[in-house]
Amino acid sequence: MGDALTEQSVKGTKAPNLLCTLPGASDSTIIVGAHFDLVEAGSGVVDNWTGVALLSSLYQSLAITQRQHTYVFVAFSGEEAGLIGSTAFVKQLGDRRMRIKAMVNLDTLGLSDTKVWVTHADERLVGWLAGVAKVLNLPIAAVNVDNVGTTDSEPFRQKKIPAISVHSITPETLKILHSRADKIEAVHVDEYYRTYHLVAAYLALLDQKLE
Ligand SMILES: [Zn+2]
Repeated sequence: MGDALTEQSVKGTKAPNLLCTLPGASDSTIIVGAHFDLVEAGSGVVDNWTGVALLSSLYQSLAITQRQHTYVFVAFSGEEAGLIGSTAFVKQLGDRRMRIKAMVNLDTLGLSDTKVWVTHADERLVGWLAGVAKVLNLPIAAVNVDNVGTTDSEPFRQKKIPAISVHSITPETLKILHSRADKIEAVHVDEYYRTYHLVAAYLALLDQKLE
């Protein structure tokens, strides 16, 4: 598998998943994902242009250094219609899912500083993210969204793949989702940048921490 952009067609939705592979020394793999579909009520800038737009920047932040793991960046289709793209991605893995050491999901960033859905995340992955935040002196907090909805890390978790979802939703900003308030004005650029900075450092750390 080369350093390539590939489309993966997804049954039940017109748009494919889009995959970009950054090869490492081994085929142990870290998935970095974000959905690109949207609910028509708003512009979809918050949910989830903020997430999917970071994929290329994160790719570039990792591409300049040596790495052990292979990173696969996935823009998922059909999240809002019921995790269709991420479910299809996990299904087509078959036995190759054993190679996947972690999945980092980005959904709805920049409404506030970095938040983590801790109750639906792998404990080690949460611990390392909190550690990076501490070292870099960047804010991070747990906000669980169990009663709000779901996101693309869940199909991975169902297959016992360690996963974590990074977001920015708080009780105060929740009402922006899937509404006309989902527009560029809702995105706080400083907070958004801090999340990018944190996740970029985190992905580099995972290369050292994961087997
Ligand atoms: Zn979303």
